[in-house]
Amino acid sequence: MAICESIRQILEEQARSAGFTRVERVKLAIGALSGVEPEALRFGFDVVMRGGVAEGARLEIEDVAARAWCMPCAANVAISARYDACPQCGSYQLQVTGGEDMTIRELEVL
Ligand SMILES: [Zn+2]
Repeated sequence: MAICESIRQILEEQARSAGFTRVERVKLAIGALSGVEPEALRFGFDVVMRGGVAEGARLEIEDVAARAWCMPCAANVAISARYDACPQCGSYQLQVTGGEDMTIRELEVL
C-alpha cells in the first residue's frame, strides 16, 4: 500500500508539472530484488488511485530480472536473489547491477 501511495504522489506531481489531468495507463517496471510484490501492487492500485489523476488507470507491470556483475567471470549474469552465487562459476563475488528498483516506465496521459 505504501508503494501505491508513493506512485500516486509521483503521478500527482507529474500531472501538476506536465499539465495533464488524467492518467490512462501506467506501466511500471519492477525489479526482482525491489521487494515490491506485483500482486499486492495490483490489488492496492485501484483503491489508492481513487479520487486522483490516475483513477481508473490501467496498470501494466513489467518484471525486470535481477542481474549482477561477476568478478571472476568478468561478465553480467542473471541471478534470482540478492545473495545468489554466480550461475556460471559459483562465486559469491557478485555486484548487483540491475533489478533493485521500481520505476515508472511509461505513462499514457490526457
Ligand atoms: Zn562467475
